[in-house]
Amino acid sequence: MNFIIPEFPLLNFGSIYCIGRNYAEHIKEMKSIPTDSPVVFLKPRSSIVFNNGIIKLPEESTNVHHEVELVLLIGKECHNISKEDATDAVKAIAVGIDVTARDVQSDAKRNGLPWTFAKGFDTFAPIGNFVPADNSIDLQNLDISVHVNSELRQLGNTSNMIFTVNEIISYLSHRFTLYPGDLIFTGTPEGVSQIHHGDKIDAQIGNNLSSLTVHVQA
Ligand code: MG
Repeated sequence: MNFIIPEFPLLNFGSIYCIGRNYAEHIKEMKSIPTDSPVVFLKPRSSIVFNNGIIKLPEESTNVHHEVELVLLIGKECHNISKEDATDAVKAIAVGIDVTARDVQSDAKRNGLPWTFAKGFDTFAPIGNFVPADNSIDLQNLDISVHVNSELRQLGNTSNMIFTVNEIISYLSHRFTLYPGDLIFTGTPEGVSQIHHGDKIDAQIGNNLSSLTVHVQA
């Protein structure tokens, strides 16, 4: 695939950072424990798919879940930036799904191993259209939802994040230099559930600011 970002043809997708355990109710449903600092993992670029694409269920899993999330597109190089300056780093936002092979992840957790396989299969990072992040968008007050076959499965609001967008960007930038084109998945609210062959998934953020439709195939 090419890695050009459709809405910003001069920009290529870079690293894909993801934050785990960032909504209290999702931590509860997973019977996980909250952490004092963000849980960070990465997905490979090969996991990206766009609107009207396909989530391909991998043979290695029998229990793949949707996790609908606010996705940030970084627009400038950031190293050690403060929370106060972090907002300026966001070029655009989109809705995305952190597709997760839950059984593979459970095995990894049990064995103290990384989540890379559970989170990083091809097609495990569907992303909707990018919307420029200007001052009219309050990143910490966006509804976020996902329907599977027209049934509402997840409905949350980014105001319920444990670590805010600014805190996440600042935290990451103290460990990794962020570059234009990098993406950050910011965590999912409660309601994650299994997806199956033939499902149609519709995700939205901010009352249709960004939307995404993908189909699931075995
Ligand atoms: Mg997630």
